[in-house]
Amino acid sequence: MDIQATNTTLVDDDCGADLVQADVVGPSLPPDDGVQRCLQFLSDAGLRPTRQRLALGQLLFLRGHRHVTAERLYEEAIMANMNLSLATVYNTLNQFTEAGLLRRIAADGIKSFFDTDTSVHPHFYLEGEDVLVDVADGLAFSKMPEALPGHEIARLDVIVHLRRKRVM
Ligand SMILES: [Zn+2]
Repeated sequence: MDIQATNTTLVDDDCGADLVQADVVGPSLPPDDGVQRCLQFLSDAGLRPTRQRLALGQLLFLRGHRHVTAERLYEEAIMANMNLSLATVYNTLNQFTEAGLLRRIAADGIKSFFDTDTSVHPHFYLEGEDVLVDVADGLAFSKMPEALPGHEIARLDVIVHLRRKRVM
């Protein structure tokens, strides 16, 4: 790899250049200032801006508040002509989560969503439709339980599961 032969600044520049070229190829990719914002975002989080992180970061963080699964993001990456494997998407999502850029929401036993809003907030999960959305308001708890001895409450995850009403 040529990364070893260059300093950090040059690695950044190389990654940026890759994406600018990809922008020309992929019409659905955001413009250059998106790349710059993404670079800043990654460096603020202490992540080295690899080509994969930049590419997926643009899909995740430049389109407003999103809830995505790894599979959905992988499909978007393929549509945008990004040459990535599903395993890379999983790894990158996990790295973003560990760096505090995403919050993982386990909606059911199998599937995790990744939320670009990392604040604690409740969700609706639409069963069978693979959709997770924020609960706008109207949810209130009057009492939190005491934590077990030697523990403290880290966070409260609330997922309200919805299903379609049966048509009579
Ligand atoms: Zn959310």
